[in-house]
Amino acid sequence: MLRYSIVVPIYNEEAIIPELYRRLHSVIALLDETAELVFIDDGSHDRSLSLLRHLHERDPQVCYLSFARNFGHQVAVTAGLNFARGQAVIVMDADLQDPPELIPDLIQKWRQGYQVVYAQRTQRQRESWFKRFTAYWFYRTLRRLADVDIPTDTGDFCLMDRRVVDLLNAMPERNRYIRGLRAWVGFRQTAIPFDRAPRYAGSVKYTFGKSLALAINSLVGFSKVPLRLSTYLGLVSAAISLLMGLLVLYWRLFAPNSPLTGYTIITVVVFFLGAVQLISIGILGEYIGRIYEEIKGRPLYTLSEIGGFQNSKDSLRTPQPQIRESVRGESIRDSDG
Ligand code: UDP
Ligand code: MG
Repeated sequence: MLRYSIVVPIYNEEAIIPELYRRLHSVIALLDETAELVFIDDGSHDRSLSLLRHLHERDPQVCYLSFARNFGHQVAVTAGLNFARGQAVIVMDADLQDPPELIPDLIQKWRQGYQVVYAQRTQRQRESWFKRFTAYWFYRTLRRLADVDIPTDTGDFCLMDRRVVDLLNAMPERNRYIRGLRAWVGFRQTAIPFDRAPRYAGSVKYTFGKSLALAINSLVGFSKVPLRLSTYLGLVSAAISLLMGLLVLYWRLFAPNSPLTGYTIITVVVFFLGAVQLISIGILGEYIGRIYEEIKGRPLYTLSEIGGFQNSKDSLRTPQPQIRESVRGESIRDSDG
């Protein structure tokens, strides 16, 4: 039985694939057990897919999936988890910001009995101050608001036991914030600190828009606090209007020459209430939009090509692979480890 799967989403990474493969290969060669490399081409427009095909022809350990279009990083990781066959599955970015050399450390923790081993970044010195600032506050806000304890400063770089992967695969939801789902599952989890390297080559694929969408997804997916926010805003504006009512009454009775009457107050109040209402509708919309997405029940991704994965060829016709039998999970892993 396959021991390790390494899942790597690829979006326009032609500049990186040869070096990525070289480093992954030398790490895998040192492992004394079987491993597969699962690359997911997320609808790249460059030569990424042909490079992956080429690797697959040369090295049977390399398997790949190709999406019919760009579906995004989290969906690509999801597809990789759907197809990975290893007893332990490692997820990492393609750009070598997640050093493959950390994989043996992740595995060692897994052998010690942890079902989730995630890499936690100790420093981001080499990223822009804007990215560091927003990431710092985002992770801390999320931690305060989320229903589950999502560790700060962790990315998708982690190792997950087969049991956890099966549980993730069995989750029907399409809003897939992997770090959150991974934390939600529970089991024994531990962190390994690491120093995040700069991107090896090519440009960042997470544009500001994509990062913002991921941030909103994670908040809406793991917290109901934003919904409550409109209640709070409503209460605050009710209190303010009560105060103002009293103030106006006071002015009428005791200070008839006060300048702060009439249009000034009305304009401010109209804008304030308008803002409160729009924010509330917007927040409601975020949740309703997600309900709509879930209800439609479309497949998460469409595949145009599969390389490797013997026995799972028919998955091309049904993009959502069958959930394995072991979801209910009897054994966590083979007896020999
Ligand atoms: N990625 C992807 N689909 C996308 C965007 C990114 O599969 O639509 C992959 C990308 O190829 C890389 C990983 O997600 O392997 C992380 O992307 P990037 O390094 O650009 O993001 P950051 O380092 O800012 O998190
Ligand atoms: Mg990166």
